[in-house]
Amino acid sequence: MRRKIVAGNWKMNKNIHQGLELVNELIALDSPADVLKIIAPPFVHIAHISQLVKSKSDMAVAAQNCHQETSGAYTGEISAEMISSCGAQYVIIGHSERRLYFGENSALLTQKVNTALANSLTPIFCLGENMEERNANKHLEAVKQQLKDALFHLTPAEFSKLIIAYEPVWAIGTGLTATSHQAQGMHNFIRAEINKKYGKDISEQISILYGGSCNAQNAKELFACIDVDGGLIGGASLKAADFIAIANSF
Ligand code: PEP
Repeated sequence: MRRKIVAGNWKMNKNIHQGLELVNELIALDSPADVLKIIAPPFVHIAHISQLVKSKSDMAVAAQNCHQETSGAYTGEISAEMISSCGAQYVIIGHSERRLYFGENSALLTQKVNTALANSLTPIFCLGENMEERNANKHLEAVKQQLKDALFHLTPAEFSKLIIAYEPVWAIGTGLTATSHQAQGMHNFIRAEINKKYGKDISEQISILYGGSCNAQNAKELFACIDVDGGLIGGASLKAADFIAIANSF
């Protein structure tokens, strides 16, 4: 059975005091123990938050990015090993904002995935089509290409460690959400592509999250889809009650 997951991507929000307050609120609220709640705060919160959730088996911490190199003269950058040493177990790679604002392409993302895996971090790998591709009915092709270019070099053992997040770019932070039909269609397609490359066992066990204006109102319908194993949540992860309501939507 696949793990149910909700991951909250705080992006560049919350100072340390606000961040710790939010995590304490998350801990205090009731949520199902079989849903893994991953918190992805800014780098500077990771060590503190990891300490706070250390004893909670249903909570974990992710970074929002990591550098592709292991270490070296890269002023201002953060390595996967540093993140891991602060207590995080996950790292978001390939978020559309990183692709758009920081020019991250598949060749770079491949390196980041490799470095993350080599440093005991599980990549939460984001992919998704833009509006133009969706309107031209090229969304399946676009996502297939992203999968192949950034991930299909991995061995089956490596690939099986990943979490995939389908995030249609047109739905991120826009208030537009994929319909459950659109989300299920794409998740099913991604799983079928993984099946072709890595076989049924791996394709059936890998968690595929939906991201893009997912909130407490629409999560239930999205999570009811057979191939949707949870969500990567941006805006709605910044309020404890909203994030926990989403975790309660399975
Ligand atoms: C995201 O940033 O990954 C995201 C899904 O954002 P939002 O939920 O705000 O659309």
